[in-house]
Amino acid sequence: MQRIELDGVPLFTSPGPGRATGALVFGVGLRDETYATLGITHLIEHLVMGTLPKSHLDCNATVDVESTVFYATGKPAAVAAFLTGVCAALSDLPVERMEKEIGVLQAENCTGSHPTAAVLWAARFRLDGPGLALAGGGVPEWLTEAAVRDHARTWFVRDNAAALWHGERPDDLRLVLPEGPRPARRRPAVRVQTGPLWLQGPTAGAGLLLTVPDALDAATGVGVDVLTERMRDVARMERGLSYHADLEIVDIAPGHREVAVVVDAREGQEAEVARVLWEQYLDLCERGPSPAELEHSVQGFAEHLDSGDDVTLADLSRAAFADVFGLPFRPAAEGVPAWRSVTPEQVAAALRSCRPSAVLALPEKVDPGPLPGGIERTYLCNYVPVLPKGTTFRPSLLARALHKEARIQLVVTDTYLAHGDSDGDGHVIPWPDVEAAVPALTGNGVFVVGRNLCGIDVHEDVYGRRAVDAVRARLPQHVWVQAPAPTFGEAPVGAGVR
Ligand SMILES: [Zn+2]
Repeated sequence: MQRIELDGVPLFTSPGPGRATGALVFGVGLRDETYATLGITHLIEHLVMGTLPKSHLDCNATVDVESTVFYATGKPAAVAAFLTGVCAALSDLPVERMEKEIGVLQAENCTGSHPTAAVLWAARFRLDGPGLALAGGGVPEWLTEAAVRDHARTWFVRDNAAALWHGERPDDLRLVLPEGPRPARRRPAVRVQTGPLWLQGPTAGAGLLLTVPDALDAATGVGVDVLTERMRDVARMERGLSYHADLEIVDIAPGHREVAVVVDAREGQEAEVARVLWEQYLDLCERGPSPAELEHSVQGFAEHLDSGDDVTLADLSRAAFADVFGLPFRPAAEGVPAWRSVTPEQVAAALRSCRPSAVLALPEKVDPGPLPGGIERTYLCNYVPVLPKGTTFRPSLLARALHKEARIQLVVTDTYLAHGDSDGDGHVIPWPDVEAAVPALTGNGVFVVGRNLCGIDVHEDVYGRRAVDAVRARLPQHVWVQAPAPTFGEAPVGAGVR
């Protein structure tokens, strides 16, 4: 593998098959958006792809939490033309196509990230960085052309890009991108926790999140690999509980990786799958893998290396990715001896050291029962058992008499906006933590979105005009967004009594 620079873009290249693969990687993804701009990166990707001439080239683009990638495989000249076309479109973004592409996105109805991973990231970062995935997957209908141009000009620039090329490289390959400094990527704040936690959220199955300081650490790599393999074996083979176990990995910054093990569960088996996941993790923390498991894991890694061109391509991709994000890189072939030298004790120690950061997620309303290992319950949003004291608004007496779901209340204080639901549960948003205020689609009202993942619906039809006025008066101008109501976490509260 060779690193060269082409038009100022680092290019990782290796000779290879007659059909070449080329890709452009940008250091921008959903984590770099805000609640008000959700989906803007995906829209830009669509605007770019929409300008390219139709061809038989095998090409596509993806936007995930961390990055945006444009890639193609085919005749070298055609792949080179594809990358040139991407660069040209980014240099002169066809914003006049916005409306059309928003329609395409609506039809695509893409859900974005794995729902369990999104819940876990939200547990770690709330409505910030990768945690935004919990509200993501929507269509950015309300964005202005200026906002879209601005996002592209900030993020889709030469210094925030890297490229890879596998195969014979044509001499006329060019990568002319708009100039611009590498944008400073904000590091989302981590929600403080002192020991393992479990919570419920809109997951699909169960998941376990661990903070890993060293992305290249072999003992941790083996540990999460064995845990995933155990979930496949124990859960699927022995108990028939689940279908899939996968790893979802996000590199937040150098020295900070978040690893999620996500496991499907059949309906009704979610609690059991979550319990197996947690118990197997604890067992590995205690005893480490068996010699056979260790051997199987290393062997799996080594066999993967025999797949030739795929390994080269994977190395090129990770090298380009690491370059954009300033992360350490190690070719896969050098990882095998590192994995081979790991002992069961080292694996156990590595997994133990992540334990204070562990978060176990289950679907809403699924109770795992008593769990070993000192894991405590927490809540995705800012749940409180007792509401703060302040000006209180309630639905009419008649509504409360007739409907249990109308026995709710809204509390407005100088410090907080709070809501109590009919089950007596409270949700609190400190005013400085308001991320967005979304006007009601009909009537006089506002949905207040907290960075702490609480969502509080304030509507005249429920609480009366004075309540809406009291809340509006405390919302600063910049939090108002024109956007559809969010889809995360608790249902829009009070919706049942509208
Ligand atoms: Zn809440």
